[in-house]
Amino acid sequence: MPEPPLLIKDLGPFFHENEGVGLAVLGDPISHSISPQLHNAALKELSAKDKAFKGWRYDKIEVSASQLGDALPSLAELGYRGINLTIPHKVEVLPLLKSVDEEALAMGAVNTLVWDDNGWSGRNTDGYGLEKGVHQDLGVRLQDSSILILGAGGAARAATAQCLLRGCEKVWLGNRSLDRLAGLTDALGNLFESHRIRTFSLSDLPPEIKSLKDLLVINATSLGLRQKDPSPVDLSGLSSSTRVYDMIYNPPETALLKDARHRGMRSANGLSMLVHQAARSLEIWTGEPVSSSAMFKGAREAMAHPDE
Ligand code: NDP
Repeated sequence: MPEPPLLIKDLGPFFHENEGVGLAVLGDPISHSISPQLHNAALKELSAKDKAFKGWRYDKIEVSASQLGDALPSLAELGYRGINLTIPHKVEVLPLLKSVDEEALAMGAVNTLVWDDNGWSGRNTDGYGLEKGVHQDLGVRLQDSSILILGAGGAARAATAQCLLRGCEKVWLGNRSLDRLAGLTDALGNLFESHRIRTFSLSDLPPEIKSLKDLLVINATSLGLRQKDPSPVDLSGLSSSTRVYDMIYNPPETALLKDARHRGMRSANGLSMLVHQAARSLEIWTGEPVSSSAMFKGAREAMAHPDE
């Protein structure tokens, strides 16, 4: 069985027996998270180079939506200085924070908290992670590509905001539920010129993209998480130079990625996004450059041995 998460009620004694600086991911459910393996691998490397990081460690802590308001000040008191947030906290945390930076505001969500004596400040490294991952795996820069994003949840919003912040002329955004799509485009339309966001229904790709040679398709839906899930979109008719990035990394090859491979399109899964958003969070907390290679190694080991 994967190592069970810590529970907030058990934290006091645990932390004081293990002095150092605490970092953690909070969520509910959280037992599936491999973030500790990524961060602790990188922390091991950092502390081998610099003794200042000896005793730093990264935990996963089960915190429900109703516990978050009390958990944040308690964790600061216990010595936690950096926090990652996942389901269901990324949006709900916003009113609890002292400040939120511009990128996180554009993304409407926060995945990284930094303690600076008076309170928790919020950042978002998901967009950065996506940008770095796409560049590393597919050799493309967002601002040089025509972008098609599938989904209208938090991950799709972060991806769209990152593209628009980077200067992409326009982004095509498609979702199954058109109501949710309209809600997202309204929210983004308050922050960016609305003509830069074009929408479509997942079942109907916009005809004008079919001839594009520099197209990047990004899956930010959760369709593909289950082994038998179909692809969220039909890639037929797109140029074989189209690149496809699926934010899902487990399973490592979704139906979308398989289809892209069969059509000769360059494609990659979301492991690089996961690693680069984590590396960026750790850089923010430590003030040191973090090499992503230890994190990739930690992630691959965690995925190869899910029961350890
Ligand atoms: P949300 O729950 O906020 O959004 C889910 C999205 O998936 C919605 O657009 C939803 O569409 C769509 N969807 C769900 N089921 C279907 C279906 N059967 N057919 C078509 N569309 C469907 O999730 P997030 O935005 O937080 O995450 C989305 C994905 O991105 C997840 O798979 C997550 O694991 C991944 N992710 C990966 C990261 C990484 O580091 N690699 C980081 C963050 C997320 P509708 O509105 O119609 O329901």
